[in-house]
Amino acid sequence: MSNLLVNTRDQQFILFEQLGIEKLFESEEFKDFSKDDLLMIMNEAEKLAVNVIAPTFKEGDEEGCHLKDGIVSTPKCYREPYKKFCEGGWINPMDSTDVGGQGIPAAVGFSNMELFGAANYAFMMYPGLTHGAANLIHTYGTDAQKEKYMTKLFAGEWAGTMCLTEPGAGSDVGSLRTTAKRLPDGKFLITGTKCFISAGDHDLTPNIIHPVLARIEGDPAGTKGISIFIVPKFTVNDDGSVGKRNDVNCGGIEHKMGIKGNATATLNFGEDGKCIGELLGEERAGIKIMFQMMNEARLGTGLQGLCTASAAYEHALAYAKERVQSAPVWEMKNPDAKAVTIINHPDVRKKLLWMKSHIEGLRSLLYFSAFCMDMSRVSKTEVEKAKWEGYLDLMTPVVKAYTTDKGLLICSLGMDVYGGYGYCQEYPAEQYMRDEKIATIYEGTNGIQSLDLVGRKLGQKKGANVMNLAALIQGNYTKLKTNPDLAKVASSLEEACNAWIELTMFFAQAGKSGDFLLPVLNACKYLELFGDVIIGHFLLDGAGVAFAKLEAIYDAQGATTLGKKKGLQRSDSDAAFYSGRIASAKYFANEILTTVKARCEAIKAGDKSPLEIVDEAFTC
Ligand SMILES: Cc1cc2nc3c(=O)[nH]c(=O)nc-3n(C[C@H](O)[C@H](O)[C@H](O)COP(=O)(O)OP(=O)(O)OC[C@H]3O[C@@H](n4cnc5c(N)ncnc54)[C@H](O)[C@@H]3O)c2cc1C
Repeated sequence: MSNLLVNTRDQQFILFEQLGIEKLFESEEFKDFSKDDLLMIMNEAEKLAVNVIAPTFKEGDEEGCHLKDGIVSTPKCYREPYKKFCEGGWINPMDSTDVGGQGIPAAVGFSNMELFGAANYAFMMYPGLTHGAANLIHTYGTDAQKEKYMTKLFAGEWAGTMCLTEPGAGSDVGSLRTTAKRLPDGKFLITGTKCFISAGDHDLTPNIIHPVLARIEGDPAGTKGISIFIVPKFTVNDDGSVGKRNDVNCGGIEHKMGIKGNATATLNFGEDGKCIGELLGEERAGIKIMFQMMNEARLGTGLQGLCTASAAYEHALAYAKERVQSAPVWEMKNPDAKAVTIINHPDVRKKLLWMKSHIEGLRSLLYFSAFCMDMSRVSKTEVEKAKWEGYLDLMTPVVKAYTTDKGLLICSLGMDVYGGYGYCQEYPAEQYMRDEKIATIYEGTNGIQSLDLVGRKLGQKKGANVMNLAALIQGNYTKLKTNPDLAKVASSLEEACNAWIELTMFFAQAGKSGDFLLPVLNACKYLELFGDVIIGHFLLDGAGVAFAKLEAIYDAQGATTLGKKKGLQRSDSDAAFYSGRIASAKYFANEILTTVKARCEAIKAGDKSPLEIVDEAFTC
């Protein structure tokens, strides 16, 4: 039965049948794990998501967060689940045992986070940001900082945040105005205002540790002059005991469209000139250091895109199987025809398959990204390691932006499946859409992610990362073309992949010839095409695996006719799953991949109207 959050059968398919993560067990790093161990962890994660976190979804949204007398309160229903979450060691199961983790593969960690986020993403942001802050100190902190802050953060005793944005410095972080003044004891006085800080202040933990970007007085303007500081809400003495309240205060919390259970705070540092911060890492290395957390957060936001969409889909599917409305189209001339469940209507089926195929593709993309981290850890050679790291580097902006753009569309379609009820608070469809929207904006808007992809990532290592990815896709369609049942869709992938590579070369050429505005103007379109090709690749790769498994089931059951095969697809859950996987892939190839070439050509046609039109002519 569906848990109405995430299809765990599909999670297992991607991890064990498609990616084959068991190969990790051959390495020193993962030799103590077995498939059964990982399945047990995934099962526990599902129970926690369904029984403990999901019940807070609606209540947390309705109660929201409040600021009264300088204290920010979170939804009351979050307290026990947060405690259970931390006590269960769910903040850092992917980290090594020396920092309290279990060292599980990142791919499995992502599958757990998908479940938790689908249950309530606003709740999950508290431990998610805490992990990011702890990990920064783990990588860049001194031994003393690790002892003082990191251990308590990884345990969830204290919480963490990520403080970049200021009222005048959003997308352009380099223009920040927060300052750091050197003190004789080596610490710094921090002064400035950060806005939109997720989990910026709250009552879930007795202390909050803020990694804050600021400029040391006298350091140069722009990103090169930025340093990063650990600023605790309550100062921490060298022996680890909690000291006095630091001069950092919540100036207000936002009233938002979604993720209402997460407190988005304006934080004033040093209003009384007494905010103490400790330098993290080297001076002026703040952006490089924060990038570790930003990359983690970008993948986390990609997960938000996926998990919220997944829950929206599971609910829409269940509703479509229950809601009775209208006679079927083939009975339209029969006034006595009985109404059927809406899943019988072609348009609803098509919406559902669009959602299903995208979710499966996005899930593969996310888990593959995590698998890249695992593979880079176990790689035996530098070349091998660089290949896996290169995939991840290249794909990070795509994971963030493509997944959240498509996730939002999935939530919207989910609402359409419900009809009018989807727009009402009686059903969760509208909350999924509200909670999902922010994912296209924060952690660097999707527009900024696209510029990062086109302006920075494509050219990394002289294009080697792109070529490695293209080779992966080429290997896939070459293999699939030998299967008569999948040859046609494999050709669609080939055509789409070639068109994407040609467009990539076209952009490189345009850059060289000084016409860089065309790639900049079309960066979002390019990122979408990239996403379509890469998830098309994963879907078809999955279809190849599913095809072989389905044939084996038919053989074992003696199903040789179409009727018998269809019968098995209805009665055997594995046959249903594999045939559904093949249907998703074929649908995606026919509906989306076939359009890639034309969309690439449209970009190459070179329209620059948005740049040519004068501001005054934008009226309509
Ligand atoms: C609910 C919520 C939670 C958040 N959590 C955090 C957090 O925890 N920590 C934190 O530091 N920040 C956080 N943020 C801030 C968030 O990351 C920023 O809102 C985001 O980066 C965009 O910045 P901005 O709002 O200033 O928009 P702007 O930078 O003003 O951008 C406005 C529009 O202009 C576009 N734009 C701007 N510059 C360019 C450019 N050079 N080229 C092309 N397009 C451009 C943008 O893409 C966008 O469409 C949060 C925001 C919200 C709403």
